[in-house]
Amino acid sequence: KEYLNFFETKCKRSKELTDEAKKYIPGGVQHNLAFNYPFPIAIEKADGAYLWDADQNQYIDFLQAGGPTVLGSNYEPVREKVFDMLRSCGPVTGLFHEYELKLAKLINQYMPSIEMLRMLGSGTEGVMAAIRAARTFTKKKYVIKVGGAYHGWSDQMVFGLHVPGTGRLEATGIPRGANATTEEFFPNSLAKLKRRLVFNRLLGGTAAVIVEPVGPESGTRPVPYDFNQKVRELCDEFGALLIFDEVVTGFRLGLGGAQGYFNVKPDLTVFGKCITGGYPMAGGVGGRRDVIMTFAAGIGGVGEKAYVGGTLSANPLSCVAGYYALKEMERTNAPVIAGKAGDRLTKGLNAIIDKYGLPFVAFNQGSIVHLETSGVMLLDLRNPIKLAKELKPRKHMIEQMGAAYMANGLITLAGSRMYTSMADTDEVIDEALRRFELVLS
Ligand code: PLP
Repeated sequence: KEYLNFFETKCKRSKELTDEAKKYIPGGVQHNLAFNYPFPIAIEKADGAYLWDADQNQYIDFLQAGGPTVLGSNYEPVREKVFDMLRSCGPVTGLFHEYELKLAKLINQYMPSIEMLRMLGSGTEGVMAAIRAARTFTKKKYVIKVGGAYHGWSDQMVFGLHVPGTGRLEATGIPRGANATTEEFFPNSLAKLKRRLVFNRLLGGTAAVIVEPVGPESGTRPVPYDFNQKVRELCDEFGALLIFDEVVTGFRLGLGGAQGYFNVKPDLTVFGKCITGGYPMAGGVGGRRDVIMTFAAGIGGVGEKAYVGGTLSANPLSCVAGYYALKEMERTNAPVIAGKAGDRLTKGLNAIIDKYGLPFVAFNQGSIVHLETSGVMLLDLRNPIKLAKELKPRKHMIEQMGAAYMANGLITLAGSRMYTSMADTDEVIDEALRRFELVLS
């Protein structure tokens, strides 16, 4: 518990600010990914691989805002393009701007399955829109997801298992009917998926199967390489659309996303995070022309309309930021560089784990790095009551480890996940490993 000393002596301004924030903001922090233990820190500056808090402590930043910044935080060439747009157009006009077209064309070039794109406000909205389009297009009822996968916080998607990063099982305030047509199957259990598809055929059919292609919770429970192809085949057999939730993997695993990596073509793809390079209003859904055109019934599309909206969706700032972030990622090869940093971090963490004989493991999908210290991966998802009981102490342990990393100058996502970026040079990773060893030894 030595790390508590760091918070008490070195984070006084953060404590002052976040204590006061508790009076005006629920819980004192507004972001799901913010650390609360022992109290949240207030960030003042971000640059590349580093963050600085209000007390001028410097951290190596493996949160990277939860994934969107493959180029590193606050990347100057993109920031300058955003400033230019702000000067010429302001943040929003509500009318069409050329950069909407430029971004959609660029994404089509990287991911040929994205024949058309509809920008929205967040990954959550992208998932809601994808499901609405799938139901409108197929005229079928059910949506099937993988247990433990996170697809945003809409009523139909947050239920059953835990809210990401929190280990919390409950998400209340959701009327029972709201998710009555959402079903789950156990991770990697294709037989269970098939059973649901068969059963649903008698009850109104399956409109879509939605997966995080690297496995639930950004690959915390990884999938075998052929998993997505097999889901694709089952979808084709039962006339369901395949939705890839690429909110995390899109452009991070590579400019072709997870669909390029696994060489599987989804019908619809949901984007978030990287689609605007971390700038606000990061979300959208793209895919087959005939399905995406359900959003445009009345303005070129035919048939029934899947309604979507959003005052700030596709605003010029988000689109110009997304366009230049992706262009820069292509020019610099950022996804590959970030992936190599992820490999180096994973290898180094496993070396530390071996050196001290710890019952932990690190693994990665490129720049998405998992540090499994609590055994959460091995828990049985089939028994929610037992799961809730077992998650609680583990959550507390992970939380404490996250705080200990922070006291040693490392910011992670909930103490168990790390996103690397192009800014993570070998020197940064080696310094991070030195800091990790201080905690883990
Ligand atoms: N889908 C996945 C796989 C995610 O990881 C997230 C967010 O972390 C979402 C959807 C929701 O995206 P947003 O937070 O932009 O609503």
